[in-house]
Amino acid sequence: MLEHRVQPAIRGLRAYDPGHDLVALRRAAHSPLIELGSNENPYGPSPKAREAVQGCLGELALYPDPRGGDLKRALSQQHGVATAQIVLGNGSHELLMQLAQVFAGPGAGVVASQFGFAVYSIAAAAVGAVFEAAPALPMDHAMAGGHDLDAIAAVVDAGTHLVYLANPNNPTGTWFGADELEHFLTRIPADTIVAIDEAYAEFVDAPEWASSIPLVASHPNLIVLRTFSKAHGLAGMRVGYGIAQPELIDWLERIRESFNVNLLGLAAAEASLGDPQHLAEGVRRNKVERERLADALRSRGVFVFPSQTNFLLVRFGDGASRIDDALRERGVVLRPMGGYGLPDCLRITVGTAEQNAKLLAALDAVQ
Ligand SMILES: *Cc1c(COP(=O)(O)O)cnc(C)c1O
Repeated sequence: MLEHRVQPAIRGLRAYDPGHDLVALRRAAHSPLIELGSNENPYGPSPKAREAVQGCLGELALYPDPRGGDLKRALSQQHGVATAQIVLGNGSHELLMQLAQVFAGPGAGVVASQFGFAVYSIAAAAVGAVFEAAPALPMDHAMAGGHDLDAIAAVVDAGTHLVYLANPNNPTGTWFGADELEHFLTRIPADTIVAIDEAYAEFVDAPEWASSIPLVASHPNLIVLRTFSKAHGLAGMRVGYGIAQPELIDWLERIRESFNVNLLGLAAAEASLGDPQHLAEGVRRNKVERERLADALRSRGVFVFPSQTNFLLVRFGDGASRIDDALRERGVVLRPMGGYGLPDCLRITVGTAEQNAKLLAALDAVQ
């Protein structure tokens, strides 16, 4: 009845599908679920972040700082950029959507890679932009399924308003090197916005990888996105940020909802930046467990994609969906990949040693 009043771009969208109903699964489970479907941090946030949240409980009646000044100053120190170069988001998801709202629009071109993060095509569709996915690197490439920056550059033309790249990428776990990106940027029009999504940056130790943040100084069209949801273990707090030159930030600020990052989120994120030891320890444990889990899976004959993140993309073949269901019956929740065009794969968050051992035992029982 209301359809004719709905914006044309919105009519074709479908509401976010959260996959499994985790709340219902948790209620029905006899023992704690092994939740390895959402790339959450199994070690949790810094104790300093918890304390900061508790310290806010007396201020819940007050609006938070609409500028997020304290958090921006902490981020500015951390990354060596001015506070005017930082925009805060209710998770980086919000910023990904805002980029399309500001810089794309009906008929504008938005480009990403095949097997890129699902939010990119949704952000484009929501504003009526034309989304195009460049083919990923072939499956027999060392960086199977990863971003092919040459293929992406070939798809970009003067009508491309926005390019989304994830480095490392979700759901593949793959990455590209700093040199590759610099070369890519020379091939992109100076007024095409390039958003580099570094949600998993803290986990990376590959020597050829480097953050794109230093490139912001020489590229007014570049924005680098980070989040507190993954390595900082604050997914429930919903805090992300973008770093770009002040002009790009200024445009995003115009549509930002005044209090988009809440009181608890601002405090938790700032406190988390003050505990680099906790962050480093989580990253260290993730690396050890990621390598152990990848080896254990490979020894079971499945293909594991290269990963610099806190998850592994694994090709189980035709049985993937059956294995996913059977594991869930045993209380192990993974992420099916049909929506990404990878129905023979499952994405597995690297858990604690204990969680990973339970996953492997369940896998052996169901295979
Ligand atoms: C998890 C993730 C995000 C971050 O989401 P938040 O909204 O900050 O929780 C962004 N990009 C990618 C590729 C991710 O995997």
